Amino acid sequence: MELKQVFSGRAEITTYLESALHGLYTGEAQAPVLQGGRNAAVKQLKEFTARNYGRRNHTNAPVSRLSAYLRHGMLSITEVATHIRTHAQGRERDEFLKQLTWHEFFALVLEQEGTAVFANLEAPKYVTHWQKNLPDDILEGKTGLPCVDAWVAKLIQTGYLHNHERLWFAAYTVHFRKVDWRAGFTFFRQHLLDGDIASNALSWQWVASTFSHKPYFMNKDNIAQFSSHQWCGTCTAVCPFNKSYAVLEQELFGGQFGWSS
Ligand SMILES: Cc1cc2nc3c(=O)[nH]c(=O)nc-3n(C[C@H](O)[C@H](O)[C@H](O)COP(=O)(O)OP(=O)(O)OC[C@H]3O[C@@H](n4cnc5c(N)ncnc54)[C@H](O)[C@@H]3O)c2cc1C
Repeated sequence: MELKQVFSGRAEITTYLESALHGLYTGEAQAPVLQGGRNAAVKQLKEFTARNYGRRNHTNAPVSRLSAYLRHGMLSITEVATHIRTHAQGRERDEFLKQLTWHEFFALVLEQEGTAVFANLEAPKYVTHWQKNLPDDILEGKTGLPCVDAWVAKLIQTGYLHNHERLWFAAYTVHFRKVDWRAGFTFFRQHLLDGDIASNALSWQWVASTFSHKPYFMNKDNIAQFSSHQWCGTCTAVCPFNKSYAVLEQELFGGQFGWSS
């Protein structure tokens, strides 16, 4: 029986979940933000035309939000690609197909490497001693950095982060806090509605430099620019990102990798 036939709204779903999950789950019960099922997936796909997808790196860009449907088999990669080839054009179409290709590439790497993706595929490209676990202040979203705490809250409450927020959070965790990428991977896997082993593990490894030739990181200008100053505009925290790329590279990695703002 479908949920919508039994419950009249989110409040009722939440109440039901609270009792159904009692003793099984320690977090707060909440109705999912995303509507599940094939019909909702097809509706979302039909409404997406990749218009303004060139802005996809901005956190307020109109990205597709199709990842959870792809992850759970509500849509196939082929039908998403066919839809875009028909309804989008030019660079926006090509850029979207490129992102789908990353998804497929990661899936193929997982197929080839198997459980090896749970360990470093290559040695990190800088000398580092990562701690094993995520510190409590990160897990609880209480670092005192408004941007980081907002990403944690959003991840836990909605099961989704924009790609740039995922990259920033991963870089903060691995490089600024020196935490093993596997702890971040596990945290994401616990909360992301689209959490899948291939894209998740290999993206964390890409940031960590164990699946790329240099570590990924960002500075404050980058966060401010691509988030439309959402957090930086009013932030009064001592910001660890508020330095040039050259200075951060030296501080974080003891060397230069050629990143620039
Ligand atoms: C640390 C980290 C962890 C991630 N973990 C996951 C994960 O568990 N599951 C997951 O599906 N994606 C993951 N991604 C990739 C990406 O962030 C999401 O696919 C994307 O944000 C989903 O939103 P969307 O559907 O609106 O994307 P759109 O921008 O609309 O892209 C369309 C589709 O292309 C694919 N795609 C887009 N960007 C990427 C990318 N960078 N890598 C791989 N595929 C991409 C997805 O299937 C996505 O649904 C991760 C990225 C990072 C940096």
